[in-house]
Amino acid sequence: TYTLGAKISNWDEERSLWLSRNQDFPNIVNGKARILLVTGSPPSPCDNAIGDHYLLKSIKNKIDYCRIHGIEIVYNMAHLDKELSGYWAKLPLIRRLMLSHPEVEWIWWMDSDALFTDMVFELPLSKYKDHNLIIHGYPDLLFEQKSWIALNTGSFLFRNCQWSLDLLDDWAPMGPKGPVREEAGKILTANLKGRPAFEADDQSALIYLLITKKEWMSKVFIENSYFLHGYWAGLVDRYEEMMEKYHPGLGDERWPFVTHFVGCKPCGSYGDYPVQRCLSSMERAFNFADNQVLKLYGFRHRGLLSPKIKRIRNETATPLQYVDEFDIRHSAQGTS
Ligand code: UDP
Ligand code: MN
Repeated sequence: TYTLGAKISNWDEERSLWLSRNQDFPNIVNGKARILLVTGSPPSPCDNAIGDHYLLKSIKNKIDYCRIHGIEIVYNMAHLDKELSGYWAKLPLIRRLMLSHPEVEWIWWMDSDALFTDMVFELPLSKYKDHNLIIHGYPDLLFEQKSWIALNTGSFLFRNCQWSLDLLDDWAPMGPKGPVREEAGKILTANLKGRPAFEADDQSALIYLLITKKEWMSKVFIENSYFLHGYWAGLVDRYEEMMEKYHPGLGDERWPFVTHFVGCKPCGSYGDYPVQRCLSSMERAFNFADNQVLKLYGFRHRGLLSPKIKRIRNETATPLQYVDEFDIRHSAQGTS
């Protein structure tokens, strides 16, 4: 049967030995666990040229968030394993990055169609000290409803440890493109509530794995106190209301941390929603986030649908006053 690579069974020991021998590459920097954010897109151009433009906006958004919060970033466009193409490509990639970056404590996968919309919010990592997989979802949807949307694999974190390698090994076998993936899709559709008939996808496979082998759950943290993943349809039309009533840093329905364009597929040829609605909603999410970045520089977008910006304060001969007031790295430090 299919495997992700040579079986590794002593990663925790190997990694901690490596860390002790390579003190220039610590897994904790200034008291913060080292995080590597990973995202990517297919090796070829999008079916629609506009899709490539939104991929660019999406990576700019992630670069901004990661710069502000001292997170490293990897953009992948290769299929490391030709059998695990498409949405399954994240599995061999995450494994490869864990093994090649022993200094990284957390690998954070984020889909290309997910945007940071709260540039101040930081992951509450101390909450996760006893867990190895952090994923957005709802336990009742998972264990009672067995819903295929109980968890979302558009934004999740794995701790760099043996447990994570083992979970990836147990998650991967439904992935190989072709008859394996097709047959596995039938099992998933038969067992998961609401799942349409199609080949096995990584999200359904993870849900099915956690339902059928509950022992994995002891190290899985199902997060829903903030939007590690936030479904776009209920959020994008409320941004003006949020700006009026709330402020960045909350991360929940008042100011969503992540807005994820599930079902949109601007890079592909078909999605579940009209292309125009998707594109204008992505534009709104991008600009909503970009306003939080531009504030330090004294600008904001003319409107959430406008790429044009306007000045929000006058030039000054004493710029450091604005740095102290508007650099969100200061406020972010206070919240973590
Ligand atoms: N992806 C990738 N390479 C591919 C296909 C997909 O890196 O060849 C990534 C991309 O970031 C995408 C995610 O995998 O957002 C999930 O894939 P899916 O087809 O579900 O796309 P989505 O629904 O997120 O647009
Ligand atoms: Mn997605």
